[in-house]
Amino acid sequence: MTTRTPLDEARDQLSSAVKTLGYEQGIYDMLAAPRREMTVSIPLRRDDGRVELVTGHRVQHNLTRGPAKGGLRFSPDVDLDEVRALAMWMTWKCALVDVPYGGAKGGIRIDPRLYSQSELERVTRRYTSEIMPIIGPEKDIPAPDIGTDEQTMAWMMDTYSASQGHTVLGVVTGKPVSLGGSLGRASATSRGVTIVALEALAALGEEPSESTAAVQGFGKVGRGAARFLAQAGVAVTAVSDQYGAIMNPDGLDIASVEAFVDETGSVVGHPGSYAIDGPSILTLRCTVLVPAAVEGVLNADNAARVQAQIVVEGANGPTTASADRILQAHGVMVVPDILANAGGVIVSYFEWVQANQAYWWSESEVEQRLADRMKSAWDDVTLYARDHFLSLRDAATCLAVQRVADAHVLRGLYP
Ligand code: GLU
Repeated sequence: MTTRTPLDEARDQLSSAVKTLGYEQGIYDMLAAPRREMTVSIPLRRDDGRVELVTGHRVQHNLTRGPAKGGLRFSPDVDLDEVRALAMWMTWKCALVDVPYGGAKGGIRIDPRLYSQSELERVTRRYTSEIMPIIGPEKDIPAPDIGTDEQTMAWMMDTYSASQGHTVLGVVTGKPVSLGGSLGRASATSRGVTIVALEALAALGEEPSESTAAVQGFGKVGRGAARFLAQAGVAVTAVSDQYGAIMNPDGLDIASVEAFVDETGSVVGHPGSYAIDGPSILTLRCTVLVPAAVEGVLNADNAARVQAQIVVEGANGPTTASADRILQAHGVMVVPDILANAGGVIVSYFEWVQANQAYWWSESEVEQRLADRMKSAWDDVTLYARDHFLSLRDAATCLAVQRVADAHVLRGLYP
C-alpha cells in the first residue's frame, strides 16, 4: 500500500465538497492545484564556517479573494506536498472565517533545535530574500507556524523592509508586539480552539465543569488551549509534547505544568502527574480531544479506539479521511481544523489591518472581535451541516469552497 500524503487527504476533502456542491470537474482541477509555488535552495553558513544547503518552499494555493496568507514552518519533515496541502487548508480557512485572503504556506526542511539563533537568523533572512519577489503586504503575508516564532517574523520583516528602503510592517504577521504585532495574536489560536470547544460542549449538552480534555502538543496552540480550557472549568487530564505524555485523572494543574515546561523544556516528569505512552493520549477516555501537533495523527490505525465525544482540531490536518469516516460512524463530533484553529489567522488579519493603518487596538477589542468571528463561523458551519445533513468538516469545506468558487466566477477568467 502506498502511503498517503497530507495532499491526498486535502484533495479528498476538496473532491467530496465539489461533489456535494454539484460543481463541474474544472472547478476541482482549478482548486486542487496551487496557483504558484517556489522552491529555493538556501546556502546556510554554519557557526563553524561550513556551508550547508537547506531547501525551502513557498506555495500560494489561491489568490482569488485577496493576497495569499499562511505560516512558515521549520521542520525536518517539510516537503513540497505537505506545504501544498497546508496552503490549500489556508485558502479554506480564510474563506470560512471571511478574511479577505487566499491561502499560502511556507516551509524550510530544517530541525530548528539543531541550529543556533544566529544560524536560524541567517537561514530566515536568506529564505526571505529568495522568496522576496512573491511576498509583500498586498501579495503574500507569512506568519509563524511549527518551529517559527515572533523573532522569525521580526527577521523576515526587517529583511523585506531593508530591500524596500523603509519599514513595511504589513509583510508578515505574528510579529513581536513592540514591533508592529497585535495584542492578543500570540494566544489567538488557542482562544479560538477553546471558544469552539465550549460551543461544541454546549451543543452536546455537556457542562464544562463536568467535562475532561486531553491535549496533544504543548506548543503555540496546545499550551494555551490547555490553559483556557482549564480556566473554563474543564478538567484537563492529559497533555503531551514531542517527548511524551502525562496524565492526572483529577485534572492537571496547568499553570504548574507551564512553569515546569519553562524550567525543563518538557511536560514529562511534572510532579503532579504520571507518565503515559505519547500516542495513547489520543485514545484516552475524555470529553474533548484536542490534537494540536501535526498532520495525520488520527488515522485508520487508531480512529476506532478514540473514546472522546468531541475532537477539536487545533493542528492542521490531524485527521485522515479514513479516520474521519470511522469517527463519524462512531458518533464522534469532529470540529475541523479550518474552523477550530482559525483564531490565529483571524488575529493575523487584525494585525495586518492595524499595521497598514498604523493604529492599534486594545487587547480586549482584539479578543472581542476574535470571539465574534469564531462564534459566527461556528454558527455558519453548524447551520449548514444541519441543513445539508453533512459532517462539520464537509459543511466547513463546502462553505469555504463555495466562497472561493463564487469569487472565481465573479472575477471571470483572464484572458
Ligand atoms: N500558521 C497558522 C495557521 O496555520 C497561522 C497562519 C497565519 O496567521 O497566517 O493557521
